[in-house]
Amino acid sequence: MNTCCGPDGCGLPEVEVVEEIEDCLGDDCGGGSGLPWPIPPAPPEDPSDPNPWEPIIPGGSSDPCETCDPGEDPDDNEETCPLGQIDDGFGNCIDEEDPEPCETGDEFIDDPNVHSEFQNIWDSTNFGNELTPNPLDQRKETASWIVQTSTGFKAIPFNEDFIERQDACSIDYYGPVPENVVGLIHTHPYSVGTDLSTICELVPGDDPIYRGEPSDADYGQALNNGITFGENFQNYVLDADGIISYNLLQAVTETHSRYETCGFEL
Ligand SMILES: [Zn+2]
Repeated sequence: MNTCCGPDGCGLPEVEVVEEIEDCLGDDCGGGSGLPWPIPPAPPEDPSDPNPWEPIIPGGSSDPCETCDPGEDPDDNEETCPLGQIDDGFGNCIDEEDPEPCETGDEFIDDPNVHSEFQNIWDSTNFGNELTPNPLDQRKETASWIVQTSTGFKAIPFNEDFIERQDACSIDYYGPVPENVVGLIHTHPYSVGTDLSTICELVPGDDPIYRGEPSDADYGQALNNGITFGENFQNYVLDADGIISYNLLQAVTETHSRYETCGFEL
């Protein structure tokens, strides 16, 4: 039932709708367009209009894309990335392949099996994000032994029960040393140029600015390690700028090698 109100009001008698609207498809329908509705008449033609009127067809394509290549989907907003990069699906261009493997020539640094430990030991410093590092008093030095195994290397973090002091400036360990130890990694959780005078106990003559080098104590430790475990014993420091490497002979002359952050990310 339906009630029909005309332009003069609703005083007209009630009319019962007896006809149902049928879906109309094909050329039998009205304008013969093959569409289920009549196309509205075109508005008066305006020769100055750069976009001539076209019927809007639901489900059809939008305005023709004048800048698209043939076959290109104008609705595809995916960024075009530079050569060697791909879109990550969120509009960001990322490297197409993983970075090149580390090739420092250092057996341990180049070993992909130890990279997870580099990452672990760095993450456990609580350095924080590269762009927004945590305050210095929230960071701490961390350390791991490097042990030779039958298949390669593994890292054994310092046993916390034997760490007597641990802060952003130092880590003091008085515990047992694992069998087959071949190296020692510790961290300096800051970048080159960081002013450490607010956080570290400095003695007169100490440089308050971190220079990206092993400390005097680090070189002293390396001398002890070399004497105790052999001259091939390797010492490493991870800092926010990369990896420092030094052995017994280098410790004698207080020299070191430096590599990029090969195997860990800030
Ligand atoms: Zn150190």
